[in-house]
Amino acid sequence: MTLETIIQEGYEKIVKVQDAGTGLSAYIAIHNTTLGPALGGCRMWPYASQSAALSDVLRLSQSMTLKNALAGLNLGGGKAVIIGDPKTDKSPALFEAFGRAVQSLNGDYYTAIDVGVTTEDIGHSARQTEYVAGLTQDPSLFTAYGVFIGLKATAKRRLGADNLHGVKVIVTGLGQVGFELCRLLAEAGAELIVADIDLAKVRTAQDQFGADEAHPLEAFAKPADIFSPCALGGVLNSATVPLLQVAAIAGAANNQLAQRNIGDILHQQGILYAPDYAINAGGVISIADEIAGTWNRERVLAHCARITDTLGTIFDRSATQDQATNRIADNLAADRLNNPQQKNKRDDAKGVA
Ligand code: NAD
Repeated sequence: MTLETIIQEGYEKIVKVQDAGTGLSAYIAIHNTTLGPALGGCRMWPYASQSAALSDVLRLSQSMTLKNALAGLNLGGGKAVIIGDPKTDKSPALFEAFGRAVQSLNGDYYTAIDVGVTTEDIGHSARQTEYVAGLTQDPSLFTAYGVFIGLKATAKRRLGADNLHGVKVIVTGLGQVGFELCRLLAEAGAELIVADIDLAKVRTAQDQFGADEAHPLEAFAKPADIFSPCALGGVLNSATVPLLQVAAIAGAANNQLAQRNIGDILHQQGILYAPDYAINAGGVISIADEIAGTWNRERVLAHCARITDTLGTIFDRSATQDQATNRIADNLAADRLNNPQQKNKRDDAKGVA
């Protein structure tokens, strides 16, 4: 295995990992460890090029720093991406090799699941490294729960809706998070429009939740109350935003805004955007509790429920300062990063409030 260090301003460490024996080709980026060791999932995706994978891991790891800071966790931001098709290129040996690469960072980076990577996959990595989290409790369920309560808070703020009964929600991406979110939304009486490039998942969502189907390239433009992006990033961009016919956006996908100024456009259009890394923190909240050593369901759910308060602060300040919600969220996260002495009490180097 070769581990090549890449220098990039603003990042603490970036490693390019190549392992000819298993076919592993990956990047691990540690963006910032001011608040504690970096935590961020591992994504497997058939990137078109090495540079596409590198730029994704850079963006994703930076978001993890903001997410963990805003969620009040004593953890920094990092991320890993594996270049490959999750449907055809996986093997236990590949994930074991990835585990050896994680172990070589000596605890500066904790890995977990993300798009294309399941708990079973990183279970193989855990044979080679102690720095795998989210194995005993599936973080996706808590991400979905956090998005659900954040979506309710967004609906209350933008639509004045006390509950989700009859609220029409577009969910794109019916994966580990999106499918569970649909279940919670359907139970709450929401009307669902769903889209995924995997038609089998769409059919299951139709059967189980009575959801309407939309084409993945057209779903975001359907008339509805709320758009909930739960697939990949960059979905809110200069081509898609003018076509939106929703009052609010509240979803799980990381890096939904193609550029920060897209948030300004949403703000000007009166579309209330729940910043992605504020609303999708449920998974890292659960993982942080696991890393701290004593995972407790009630404590994790109570911490997830604070997403409502975080969004409330963001929405209030956005209204009073007439600024986009993503800019307010960035400022709140930066405040905590600039005051690392305000660490939470429950632990020192790693864990949760
Ligand atoms: P996943 O791989 O389980 O699911 C992703 C789904 O999106 C798949 O069903 C895939 O077929 C679908 N998809 C891909 N491209 C699509 C497109 N263009 N249109 C419609 N559907 C498409 O991933 P996940 O773990 O559910 O994560 C979903 C998103 O949430 C990602 O952006 C991830 O980074 C983010 N996120 C996940 C977690 C977590 O706990 N898993 C936590 C925070 C953020």
